[in-house]
Amino acid sequence: TELNKIRNFSIVAHIDHGKSTLADRLIQETGTVKDRDMQEQMLDSMDIERERGITIKANTVRIDYKADDGENYVLNLIDTPGHVDFAYEVSRSMRAVEGSLLVVDSSQGVEAQTLANVYHAMDADHEIVSILNKIDLPASDCDRVAEQIEDVIGLDATDAIQVSAKTGQGIHETLEAIVKKLPAPKGERNAPLKAMLVDSWYDAYLGVIVLVRIIDGVLKKGERIKMLSNGSVHHVDRIGVFKPQREEIDELGPGEIGFLTASIKQVRDTRVGDTITHEKKGTEDALPGFKPAQPVVFCGLFPVDSAEFEDLRDAIDKLALNDASFSFEMETSAALGFGFRCGFLGLLHLEVIRDRIEREYDIELITTAPSVIYHIHMKDGTMQELHNPADMPDLTFVDHMQEPRIKATILVPDEYLGDVLKLCQDRRGIQEDLTYAGTRAMVVYDLPLNEVVFDFYDRLKSVTKGYASFDYQMMGYRQDFLVKMSILVNDEPVDALSTMVHRDRAEMRGRAMVEKLKDLIPRHMFKIPIQAAIGGKVIARETLSAMRKDVTAKCYGGDATRKKKLLEKQKAGKKKMRQFGKVDIPQEAFISALKMD
Ligand code: GDP
Ligand code: MG
Repeated sequence: TELNKIRNFSIVAHIDHGKSTLADRLIQETGTVKDRDMQEQMLDSMDIERERGITIKANTVRIDYKADDGENYVLNLIDTPGHVDFAYEVSRSMRAVEGSLLVVDSSQGVEAQTLANVYHAMDADHEIVSILNKIDLPASDCDRVAEQIEDVIGLDATDAIQVSAKTGQGIHETLEAIVKKLPAPKGERNAPLKAMLVDSWYDAYLGVIVLVRIIDGVLKKGERIKMLSNGSVHHVDRIGVFKPQREEIDELGPGEIGFLTASIKQVRDTRVGDTITHEKKGTEDALPGFKPAQPVVFCGLFPVDSAEFEDLRDAIDKLALNDASFSFEMETSAALGFGFRCGFLGLLHLEVIRDRIEREYDIELITTAPSVIYHIHMKDGTMQELHNPADMPDLTFVDHMQEPRIKATILVPDEYLGDVLKLCQDRRGIQEDLTYAGTRAMVVYDLPLNEVVFDFYDRLKSVTKGYASFDYQMMGYRQDFLVKMSILVNDEPVDALSTMVHRDRAEMRGRAMVEKLKDLIPRHMFKIPIQAAIGGKVIARETLSAMRKDVTAKCYGGDATRKKKLLEKQKAGKKKMRQFGKVDIPQEAFISALKMD
């Protein structure tokens, strides 16, 4: 395809503002997918994404469009993830396109992720077309939202397009704007091949599929290519595009976006942002490098049934094949046995992986407290990264500790501002900025990541009845007075419940935890002390009193089948518990005990 007939773009939006629905309409309006094959959210392929309405992996679709000027255009849409955990994936896929559609729900207005995502687009020097979506809703207020786009983002919104992705209104205008307002890609057909590795994923039939954007030159089937990052050479056995189904073609030229397969075994052998060229007569000029996404949240995953350890290993291996940002290593816990210490981009990422293991592989899991990476500066001048509170070195050798901080941006209606400030303050936040955009306040806080990873987002949603939006950026490390808090049940430390906390908050957290555990652990035939301790010092304590009767006692002798049923239920329940010394702790306790109210 000629360069001036190509338009490459992405759609940026806050979650639920209609990105996927708009993509569906563009695909449908252009006849890319026949009406009878149309299903909702064509691009959100994984079940879990569809259910939660989020996009995790970047997806792409090639749309053929005959414009009003009579010319045939090729429009390549890269769909980007909308959640803060995947900010890195957003920024990298933006580098593969020249323009963006900024979608804002005209009944809601600009939100935190609208800002975060549009800034990624601006960083990538995109031309941006504003779309006011959901104009069919009675609460839609296009003038107000257009003004907000100008005030808050600083984009000219005078010719923002009014759209209903639901009814199809404004879709034709959107397609015309893509052709007229977004720039065509630049590139040199006769130059040595230079392609950007945009994304890659594992396919059971084809092996690793690599999504590429051709910058210069032409890539053909059967050629030998080289990855500039490590010099590895591969034979290209397929080239194609997504419409959105895979369709094989013979070559990709400058400005085009498509896929290749080359018998690559693991996603880990492909580096996003890498430069792909020909083995012979290739370019030596690499694209500006991308740094790989680093996991920031770690937790242990253990099978409830320890016999399922090998199945869990298998599941984790398979998931990691397709997700280079998910890391893991084996871990043994005195309490939980064999499992894995896993690293994630954020809490949503953690949840997605955990759900997939439980659902797709049918393995019940115990998840230990999520932890961030601490920097432990030792007295001998060395520094250790701490991924797991259980590995905390002896304090006599420790000089000081540092924890990661984030810059959080929160947009919230006026009336909830007080609650949001209180929440941030309670989580050791330092306010950096407070401004207004209409009746919405925008607050910026410097917060410790460890106060955010567990339940900050849930709390924020609940104190603002769902009206706040939130986004964050990692900001680096700062020293603080942190300690390891251990939990002892029946005088035995439960390593999976150890957490790092700020010294000033330890008593409060410890108290809350032992109180929760007292409710969560069932009574036994004996008395059970539950304690929180720092080093050898107990800072909070509860006692679970002994049980008097066994459960079947209330069945007044007679009914044997009922007795049997109860005992079976008990047995099934037991399987979900873990024994600590003589005490059974139910699985929910590990997560619930850590939630702060
Ligand atoms: P995404 O998270 O940005 O991908 O948003 P979705 O496309 O999944 O849309 C979120 C919700 O808004 C879904 O329930 C859609 O059906 C709905 N929606 C999207 N566009 C419109 C629209 O133009 N009008 C109305 N009324 N609802 C819409
Ligand atoms: Mg979506």
